[in-house]
Amino acid sequence: MMRAIRFNMRQPIPWALWGSTFYGGSQVISATKYTTTLAVGLLTLGPVAASAQDDPAQTLFTNCAVFDGKATELTEGQNVLVTGNLIEAIGDTSLSAEGATVVDCDGRTLMPGLIEGHAHLMLMGPSLPAMESNTTWEDFAIHGTKMSEMYLMQGFTTVRDAGGANAGLQRAINAGTILGPRLYPSAAFIGSRGGHADFANFTAPVGQTTNMGRLNMSQEADSVADVHKFGRNNFRMGASQLKFMQSGGVVSAFDPWQLLAGSTEELEAVVQVANEYGSYVMAHSYRKEAIMSALNAGVMSIEHGFSFDCEVADLMKEKGAYITTNLTAFDEGLLTIPAIANVPASLRKAKSASATFSGYIDNMKQCPVKRAFQTDCVGSVVDCSKQVAYEKHLNAEFFDPHTALVTMTSTGGELVALSGDFMNPYPDGKLGVIEEGAYADILLVDGNPLEDFSVMGTSDKWYDGPVRPYSPETIRVIMKDGQFYKNTLN
Ligand SMILES: [Zn+2]
Repeated sequence: MMRAIRFNMRQPIPWALWGSTFYGGSQVISATKYTTTLAVGLLTLGPVAASAQDDPAQTLFTNCAVFDGKATELTEGQNVLVTGNLIEAIGDTSLSAEGATVVDCDGRTLMPGLIEGHAHLMLMGPSLPAMESNTTWEDFAIHGTKMSEMYLMQGFTTVRDAGGANAGLQRAINAGTILGPRLYPSAAFIGSRGGHADFANFTAPVGQTTNMGRLNMSQEADSVADVHKFGRNNFRMGASQLKFMQSGGVVSAFDPWQLLAGSTEELEAVVQVANEYGSYVMAHSYRKEAIMSALNAGVMSIEHGFSFDCEVADLMKEKGAYITTNLTAFDEGLLTIPAIANVPASLRKAKSASATFSGYIDNMKQCPVKRAFQTDCVGSVVDCSKQVAYEKHLNAEFFDPHTALVTMTSTGGELVALSGDFMNPYPDGKLGVIEEGAYADILLVDGNPLEDFSVMGTSDKWYDGPVRPYSPETIRVIMKDGQFYKNTLN
């Protein structure tokens, strides 16, 4: 049997090598994980003899202040050893490794790569009808490619996609064909006809195939049988968990946010299908009735959950469930977003939603539960990078930097791991923590994010803010799976 030829790609690559060169046609992609991602521009070096590659490469980060994903304070003076794609050891400055690539943190903060709990990498907007009527698979694929790169370079080494992405994007990222984070796809979101997952034009006859259905980005279910069919099909298409739409939307054209879609039997059916695969369901739930019925049916991840209160918290704790909430929903600027302000039906919906959801932040502080980060952006890459930066800002602003960091690291890691032993695409280590045995998904940032959260690449403006940098200057190193994607130190 032929031995796989691997390239020695563990050396940090100067920042300047990134950017435009990546999309040239010269990069060679091999099946040996993503190690050749970093071969861009260096292919003339040729393959390194396989015999020299038997031991996995090592990186030693020295003199770091570690945020482990949980603790309320940094642990200073730490060395962190990465071997292959895992964190092998964490110790004081006496920890060494001969032959390892050394990165001197010089007292900077070493922390887990960020985790986005709810993105739609494939959905570019500008509206749901536009995506249904005039968007081809090429548009979606190109948008997904650029969104993946944006997320990684903003510091996110893991993204859970909340509907629209099947396994193709993940395969391209894992193979090193494109830049991107680890990806947990939900494939098509499933919802009732006439609900938030139904993209059909207003004049479409019942049963007519939609663009979004044809591409398995969204599926409308009429029955328990449909839920079984689409749920199982999603796992075949590469989902690591299922997404069910219980409530309507605010920006969407007609479905009221107050909608209670899906019968108890349908909710139980989607949970049953997910459990067949050892995985779980995330449910788009706004009203308290929706949240409670989702939890009672066995849904483990409440999405948005705007009507959250202490009674919901009690049931969540009893069930071991999680919540992710896009905090821009509570922003004063919500009513002035063009997509809302210019559409009378959406504006009306947004006003009633804002009034109903006003207790969320206080309730979450009073009765905290396991909350992960989410941005939920549907739109252009430029707009979504602004929204990501603003969502980071709001998370620390509405709560505090430590709480925000935990939601974006360790809690996110626990959440994606609910996909279980069979469907978790990355089962060899924990995500969202700096621990021995965890995946080597690591950021090095200037300063202390527990004191000054802006070093995480925040913006205090939303869509009307300036275009975001390709990657925040204060994030000096981005490592995913033991590989450098950014290093402005060496
Ligand atoms: Zn969403």
